[in-house]
Amino acid sequence: MNSQEDRNARHKQQMARKKEVVDAAIARATENRGIILVNTGNGKGKSSAAFGMVARTLGYGLKAGVVQFIKSRRDTGEEKFLGMQPNVQWQVMGDGFTWDTQNRDADMVTAQRAWAVAQGFLSDASLHLVVLDELTYLLKYSYLDAQQVCADLLARPPLQHVVITGRAAPQCLLDIADTVSDIRDVKHAFRAGVCAQPGIDL
Ligand code: ATP
Ligand code: MG
Repeated sequence: MNSQEDRNARHKQQMARKKEVVDAAIARATENRGIILVNTGNGKGKSSAAFGMVARTLGYGLKAGVVQFIKSRRDTGEEKFLGMQPNVQWQVMGDGFTWDTQNRDADMVTAQRAWAVAQGFLSDASLHLVVLDELTYLLKYSYLDAQQVCADLLARPPLQHVVITGRAAPQCLLDIADTVSDIRDVKHAFRAGVCAQPGIDL
């Protein structure tokens, strides 16, 4: 056997072993239930991954609810496209947030109002997926009670999935989550002077 044939034979053997391991892991995962996902970290991709899951959900003809907790622009590509889909309920609750006024009392009232909308989604079994975009900041500033939030998340319909995004997710959220991605910031074009690009950043 020449060295190329030898290498090919070893590769085939390695792949066969890998396939056995992967197939066994797939066979073990038989449970069907709603999961809690947390996309956290300082890197880019937390919200856009969540909106990708909304698109997947719609692909199956299923329904999704999105709550955006932080005051944000209303002209984003995700809202322009996903917000107009008949199977999507899109709520931007950050409009009343006054992070700039530093008025904690007012912010807490707004946070409660926003969470009431989220609670509505979390008790609506017709929603296959609920996205709670930038929720972590409300927990970080203690605008919402983390225990209450976790209790509401755990009491949702058993087949409903929830994606929570935002930096610095608190430990209690990580504890109840099924899937956690900590997205690392390696490089961002913004720091090289590139402004927010339509379709990429908004
Ligand atoms: P995206 O919505 O693009 O998935 P994200 O949800 O991970 O981003 P956010 O903290 O919500 O991150 O930031 C929203 C905006 O800030 C986006 O325009 C994004 O490109 C930009 N951004 C995200 N991470 C960074 C970073 N590390 N440095 C500079 N800008 C960033
Ligand atoms: Mg985001």
